[in-house]
Amino acid sequence: IELTQPIGRFAPSPTGELHLGSLTTALASFCHIKSLGGKWLLRIEDTDTERCDRQFTEQILIDLEALGLNWDDDVIFQSERIDIYNDYVCSVLSPLTYGCQCSRKRLEHYWTQQEQQIALNDVKLSTDLSINDNRKVDSDLQPNRQRYPRFCIEKDLSPIQHKLRIQLPDYCIGFNDGIQGIQWDNPQQTLGDMVARRQDGMINYILAASLDDGLQQVTHIMRGLDILPMTTAQISIMQAARLPTISHWYHLPLICNSDGQKLSKQNLAQPIDTRYPSELLAYALKLLGQLPVEHDSPERMLNQAIAQWDNTPLQGRQSLNMPAI
Ligand code: GLU
Repeated sequence: IELTQPIGRFAPSPTGELHLGSLTTALASFCHIKSLGGKWLLRIEDTDTERCDRQFTEQILIDLEALGLNWDDDVIFQSERIDIYNDYVCSVLSPLTYGCQCSRKRLEHYWTQQEQQIALNDVKLSTDLSINDNRKVDSDLQPNRQRYPRFCIEKDLSPIQHKLRIQLPDYCIGFNDGIQGIQWDNPQQTLGDMVARRQDGMINYILAASLDDGLQQVTHIMRGLDILPMTTAQISIMQAARLPTISHWYHLPLICNSDGQKLSKQNLAQPIDTRYPSELLAYALKLLGQLPVEHDSPERMLNQAIAQWDNTPLQGRQSLNMPAI
């Protein structure tokens, strides 16, 4: 028995308008959490002031309202919560953080040297063994560029004048994903000691999201598969910050266009057009493999979609192809 009300959320980054990919994430997380009798929160992830735009935020709110995707409680703007994140970084997370002065260039130089060294050893090994079959360098032996080599960990650099890294665990963390099945990953292998705060003060988005999900007492996270590589880092950060962890994870398949390309802002996915909200909802529900709903006002269509919501058609899927209209 769930003793507390389930809490889900939609957490768009306003670096562009909603497209069909982000809309389906919003719609699926809304219908799913409502089908469980839960609350659906809206959080605008606008810490990246270079890429985020107030206009996009406003358009996202307008589009969600036009589609009847009404959020519970007040919208939270991460740009107004920087002090909260910094408090965590300076207190409960501080044993895990350290200042770092390695420039990208310095690290690039280091990795290139490492790769050259490995290539040389490989040549030497094949000569020693008189193997002359032009074998490729075994990719397992390649240095992992995600894993920061911790040059600065003992330097005790000022966290104010430098970027700040956070030590992520170097062991496998597993979780059961309600759509993708059992998942496990070593966050140190995948992200290394990631930059928690840049020198200019910008907070890492997965760090901010982890803290907010905990502070907002989110229980169910349904989001795009593109964020899956960050999930074990999020789990470890939430634990380290002594925040309640997420009981239910769901990573949704990504939407592909007719050329099989994943929709994203990077490849300029078309913004959604909410002039015909009912048509758009019907289309997005079809894309999500849901049973058809009667053509009606967005609110009524959503009520029906909630009543018949089913994760099964999404299970195990990595991508969904846009149906022809
Ligand atoms: N803000 C992220 C995005 O728009 C989503 C993060 C999340 O759902 O945890 O891609």
